[in-house]
Amino acid sequence: MNLILLGPPGAGKGTQAEVLQKRLNIPSISTGMLLRNAMEQGTQLGKEAKEYIAKGNLVPDVLVVNLLRERLSQSDTNNGFILDGFPRTCAQAELLDTICSIDKVLSLEVKDEEILKRLSGRRVCNRCGASYHTIYKPPKQDMVCDNCGAVLSIREDDKEETVLNRLTVYHSQTEPIKEYYRLRGKLYIAYGQEEVSDTTKEVLRVLGLE
Ligand SMILES: [Zn+2]
Repeated sequence: MNLILLGPPGAGKGTQAEVLQKRLNIPSISTGMLLRNAMEQGTQLGKEAKEYIAKGNLVPDVLVVNLLRERLSQSDTNNGFILDGFPRTCAQAELLDTICSIDKVLSLEVKDEEILKRLSGRRVCNRCGASYHTIYKPPKQDMVCDNCGAVLSIREDDKEETVLNRLTVYHSQTEPIKEYYRLRGKLYIAYGQEEVSDTTKEVLRVLGLE
């Protein structure tokens, strides 16, 4: 199954992506992580991305899609993949349709005030990409990644002063994607619950994976 996870920042997409990854035995792919890896490894696309960022510009959609195209050519995606954090605009959704065929788009819906409550506890591992939450999904040892032992960090994006701005951007730029996929019969909506395990049940139910 080629799946997109959609939802506002803090909706719990990363956590559900991990569940679905195990359940479906397909990789969860974050374009942010792809970009960081490409820049670290100094690949051709990574070097190009670095130039844009150094000039204070956004990395163009076409470059991100080319990175994705490379990633999707790897054999672990033969049975499908989960995209987390991409596409974020209708233009990106259209570009994505030129390199692969998406089966389902899951929109994880959470109210803005709930998002604000959740984000302050979010922690991420910059080494392996695992995500945690001080309340909902604490690591076994405070601020240490269960998977790889790296020290966890708080993303700049999760800091409270940037959250409201991100929500505004989500509602104005990313949410219209739902209509794009709804029109193509690919949109599935799950409502985020207070307990992560309840959200997971809802996600699996909506996707017909119970
Ligand atoms: Zn880790």
